Amino acid sequence: IHTRLPRERKEMAEIVTKFKFNKKRVQMLSKVDEVPDCDGVVYWMSRDQRVQDNWALLFAQRLALKYEVSLHVVFCLVPSFLDATYRHYHFMLKGLEEVEEECRKLNIEFHLLLGKAKDALPKLMEEHHIGGVVTDFSPLRVPKQWRQDVLEVIPKNIPMCMVDAHNVVPCWVASDKQEYSAKTIRRKITDKLPDFLTKFPTVARHPHTSKYKAKPVDWEVTEKSIEVDRTVGPVEWANPGTHSGLDNLNEFCLNRLRKYADQRNNPNVKALSNMSPWLHFGQVSAQRCVLEVKRYKKKLRDGVEGFVEEAVVRRELADNYCHYQPKYDQMDGAYKWAFDTLDNHRNDKRPYLYSREQLTQAQTHDDLWNSAQLELVTTAKMHGFMRMYWAKKVLEWTRTPEEALQTAIYLNDRFSLDGRDPNGYVGCMWSICGIHDQGWAERSVFGKIRYMNYDGCKRKFKIDGYISRFGGK
Ligand code: FAD
Repeated sequence: IHTRLPRERKEMAEIVTKFKFNKKRVQMLSKVDEVPDCDGVVYWMSRDQRVQDNWALLFAQRLALKYEVSLHVVFCLVPSFLDATYRHYHFMLKGLEEVEEECRKLNIEFHLLLGKAKDALPKLMEEHHIGGVVTDFSPLRVPKQWRQDVLEVIPKNIPMCMVDAHNVVPCWVASDKQEYSAKTIRRKITDKLPDFLTKFPTVARHPHTSKYKAKPVDWEVTEKSIEVDRTVGPVEWANPGTHSGLDNLNEFCLNRLRKYADQRNNPNVKALSNMSPWLHFGQVSAQRCVLEVKRYKKKLRDGVEGFVEEAVVRRELADNYCHYQPKYDQMDGAYKWAFDTLDNHRNDKRPYLYSREQLTQAQTHDDLWNSAQLELVTTAKMHGFMRMYWAKKVLEWTRTPEEALQTAIYLNDRFSLDGRDPNGYVGCMWSICGIHDQGWAERSVFGKIRYMNYDGCKRKFKIDGYISRFGGK
């Protein structure tokens, strides 16, 4: 199986040597680092669900080429994940279907396994005589636990490593501690961009064919068989998969980037990239977005800088927070000043109190808030500016800051296609618990947490246009 034409051998040797790879992207998880005699290497794909522009898959291929063995991509599908709905599973599965097809063209075996990786992966590794595991990085606790569990069950002589394929500057390289704010992490990230914001090599057609074929996936049956809440369904504007994600990126560059610098905080203007669903599922790499957007540096400097600030600095700050703060979705994860101020105002009278159900149904007295909630439910993505107002009102209209945080996270994760993301936890923590923010003038309920109100929104943009679009009453 390992015999190949001499010309092919030469081509492969060139790929191995030409291929630049910054080793700081990789962290060894196992004690051993030598690949034993084997027939293949696995990329256990989790957060970064794409073939090209994926440092984890590139690294796995590099290993497989070095040892002249086959390459496998494995995705473990769990039947429920933090209350994800059909909206999320549909988006993910359609994206994975594209991954399978691309793998087939590149002679890479794609396996969709049902169940947790710790139960499904060892069996596959044994059957296919796998000698190395590469996985991607997520700072969230459930995937961290999955990684730990896999490490415990795979044979001790098989190396396993992790590649940060989501951040431009790997999370552990950007900083080794929880950063206080964008101000404290910005330089640490931007100074390292020359080393990490590099072009991607292409994942090549793999020359070493596997002895065993992966079982073809019946995507229709898989989609029907998952047991998820189907009352929250797919939306039309966001087509799943890398191709559609890249199309959307292209449209952004051509039509919206020029408005990004000045109008990204105006919910009535189409200025945002709308990339967050594809970025969240790893169907498109943030590094690719930045590389493409940067082509417009001469013409649209402010827009490009604004985009790099959001897509690199703010996004990677969110990963930093979740990676180093285990209580990233709890009030205990707040700074002391913020915790204390919320605690001191815990018994303040709330102007309105709404149940989770009333909030879900957009049944508050505030037509602007209701419109934002309807935007979230019907389009699966709320405008970035409205997300702040929306979450701050949840703090004002629920019984305790703990309830507010839980409710905001619940609604965000349930309806938003980009939910269950470090950005979402940090967005809610910023709005409600002042994370990465500073103290402001003290007032009822909020204490020193930054306040936002209806009249402030009125001054910023024409709220009537927004309200009539989503129909909040
Ligand atoms: P663009 O402005 O075009 O930005 C491009 C990318 O930069 C985004 O896709 C995102 O990856 C990143 N980005 C932009 N703004 C931020 C930010 N403030 N913090 C971190 N990264 C940012 N983002 C999510 O991806 N998922 C969430 O669940 C989520 N929930 C949020 C909840 C609240 C309460 C708040 C205040 C913010 C939340 N955000 C979340 C952050 C931000 O609002 C979204 O990333 C942004 O609106 C996504 O739209 P876009 O891709 O069109 O943004």
